[in-house]
Amino acid sequence: MAHVEGTLGTLYDEVLRRNPGETEFHQAAKEVLDSLAPVVSKHPEYVDAAVIRRLCEPERQIIFRVPWQDDDGNVQLNRGFRVEFNSALGPFKGGLRFHPSVYLGIVKFLGFEQIFKNSLTGLPIGGGKGGSDFDPKGRSDGEIMRFCQSFMTELYRHIGEYTDVPAGDIGVGGREIGYLFGQYKRITNRYESGVLTGKGLTWGGSQVRTEATGYGAVYFLNEMLKTQGQSFDGKRVVVSGSGNVAVYATEKVEQLGGTVVACSDSSGYVVDEKGIDLELLKDVKERRRARIDVYAAERGAIFVPGGSVWDVPCDIALPCATQNELDGDAADRLIKNGTSYVAEGANMPCTPDAVKLFAEAKVHFAPGKAANAGGVATSALEMQQNASRDSWSFDYTEDRLADIMRGIHDRCLETADEYGSPGDYVTGANIAGFIRVANAMLALGVV
Ligand code: NDP
Repeated sequence: MAHVEGTLGTLYDEVLRRNPGETEFHQAAKEVLDSLAPVVSKHPEYVDAAVIRRLCEPERQIIFRVPWQDDDGNVQLNRGFRVEFNSALGPFKGGLRFHPSVYLGIVKFLGFEQIFKNSLTGLPIGGGKGGSDFDPKGRSDGEIMRFCQSFMTELYRHIGEYTDVPAGDIGVGGREIGYLFGQYKRITNRYESGVLTGKGLTWGGSQVRTEATGYGAVYFLNEMLKTQGQSFDGKRVVVSGSGNVAVYATEKVEQLGGTVVACSDSSGYVVDEKGIDLELLKDVKERRRARIDVYAAERGAIFVPGGSVWDVPCDIALPCATQNELDGDAADRLIKNGTSYVAEGANMPCTPDAVKLFAEAKVHFAPGKAANAGGVATSALEMQQNASRDSWSFDYTEDRLADIMRGIHDRCLETADEYGSPGDYVTGANIAGFIRVANAMLALGVV
């Protein structure tokens, strides 16, 4: 085992050396490598064929200039990224993020996570991710459209339904996917529906895709609760963020009998002891694109500017905003306040310190690559519908999503058991996700 850990340590050193300054990518790689020792001792062939080493190196990384004109006629400049990380299981698949914090290290961490998440779904999709440091906040509709058109004018040559299939992420929702798809269609003169997912329902989109990540995370949590003989009934839940994942996680929690008492955005958080009023929240965030204090003012709820939503006592915490938003201090407060379940709706929202504290306190913890896989899984269902020129009903699609989430949950627990860490969803998710993609890489030879 010491020899195995040495090998994995050397691989991690190589990740650090080859990707200087990309701290989020280092963090994501370390988390996976730390789980793989028991697999590598059982299957030395993964090391012999340099499978893990190749997994840590993206197949292709594209960085491009995105010039566009704002409403005043000024030329603005952003940087675009697409990291095509691994296509052993299928076309590269993963969202686009538009946020000023985006740089190569963020895109690589997200792309790396995506490989294992997509593998866990059991569907034929590889891993990739992209985005831009463009800040959509305060931009007019026309500016958003011109930015998306410029972004796609370079991206189109790298993607395709059999090559690489982007979707949304932070700052990229239905409106942006529409502008991106429109420009792709115009440049290529092809109605290639399967090239992007998250499309609108009248032009190739799938029922449940909008809801899928949030719903999926709550389905996953529901399975965790059932494993402990519990349910959402009467549980107090805190959700961070108030974007796509947060809103639909809140909706599903409320449908299953829990109460979401707080949510947030980057300006602060609201506490609403009566339970979040979803119609108002959707109106404020999705239609009016306003800040969360507008919800609090109109609802008569408490607004706390700045501050941490994790100060609000709850049974269940659902971080659904962004990476590293829940640190060791926040975890400590949650544990002291009696939180017993945490599921990551966002990608890597809990820092390594927080995850360690949850494990020590026996808090049931679901990592993002398992709990938030419902979004990409439903994207794969959208690709299936596009390929067969079909469109499924809401209920049928939601049943498929619920089945997939149950499957991921069970696979995590079974794998954790098999590799000597019963009940540990982190180990289970990392190893189960790794094995499927590693076996495909072995079969495909040194490519
Ligand atoms: P949205 O852009 O719809 O919403 C993001 C939310 O998080 C907003 O409320 C935003 O507040 C808040 N937020 C973002 N950055 C920060 C920050 N630095 N500090 C505090 N709050 C912040 O994105 P999504 O809901 O789509 O994505 C949320 C998370 O879920 C991301 O980690 C994403 O990678 C992950 N995810 C998303 C999937 C999807 O299908 N959409 C699939 C799987 C994972 P504000 O508006 O003030 O910035």
